[in-house]
Amino acid sequence: MKNFKAVLFALSLLAVLFTVGCASKESAKDTNESNAEQKETITETLSETVTEETTTTTTETTTVSLVDPNKPMIALTFDDGPRINSTELIVDALQKVNGRATFFVVGSMVNKHPELVKMAVDAGCQIGNHSYDHLDLKSLSTNDILYQINTTSNLVYEASGVYPMIGRPPYGSVNNTVRNAVSIPWFNWNHDTLDWKYKDANQLYNEIMTNTDDGDVILMHDLHTSTAEAMVKAIPELAKTYQLVTIDEMAQAKGGYENVPGYIREN
Ligand SMILES: [Zn+2]
Repeated sequence: MKNFKAVLFALSLLAVLFTVGCASKESAKDTNESNAEQKETITETLSETVTEETTTTTTETTTVSLVDPNKPMIALTFDDGPRINSTELIVDALQKVNGRATFFVVGSMVNKHPELVKMAVDAGCQIGNHSYDHLDLKSLSTNDILYQINTTSNLVYEASGVYPMIGRPPYGSVNNTVRNAVSIPWFNWNHDTLDWKYKDANQLYNEIMTNTDDGDVILMHDLHTSTAEAMVKAIPELAKTYQLVTIDEMAQAKGGYENVPGYIREN
C-alpha cells in the first residue's frame, strides 16, 4: 500500500510537471505569434501610409493630355538632381518647345534647391522619387526604405505641392522587399546615354541625335552640367521629330504604365 501511494504521488508529480512544461511552451509560442502579428501590423500600417499618399498624388497630377498617341514621342528622364546651373537650363529649353520631361530627384538634393523642383512642376514636368541618399534600396530594411522614399516624397510636396507618384530605384536596384514596402510603379529605362560616364556635351548630343527611337525612355543625369549643355542644343532638334513627354503622359498614350519601356515588372 505504501508503495502504491508512492507510485501515485510520483505519477501526479510527473503529470503536473508535464502540464507546466506544455503551458510554458504554449505561452512562448503565443509570444512569438503575437510578435509576428505586431510586426505584420506595423508593416501594414507603414505601407498603407505610403499607398494613401500615392493615391492622393494620382488625382493631383492627372492633367488633360497634351499628347497625340499617334505621333512619335520620347520620354527624357533626368536623375540625381535637382542641381543648380543644370536643371533650370533643361526646364527652360523644354518650355521653349512646349516639351516636358521627368526628373527622378534625390531628397538630399531637393533639400538644397527646392525651388528647382517647383520650377519643373510649374513647367508641366513630372517628378519621380529616386530616394533620399541615393542608396541601394535592396540593401536596406523596410523601415529604412520607407525613410528614403517618404522623406523625399514629403520634401517634393513641400517644394511643389505635388507628391512623386512613380519611382526609379538608385542603380536600377529593386526587389520584392522594396516593392512591398512602397507601392508605387518603378521605372528604369530602355536607352542609356552613358552621360554620367563621359560627361561630355558633344558626345551626349551626338549619342542622343543618332540613337533615339520613337517610344524611348532615355536615361540622363541633370547632376552634370555637360548634360544640361547637351540638352540645350538637343531639345529643340528632338522636338522637331518627337513629342517630349513625361512618363505619365507616355503611359496615358500607350494604355498603361506596363506599356512604357523600362517599367519594372515583378520578379
Ligand atoms: Zn541615380
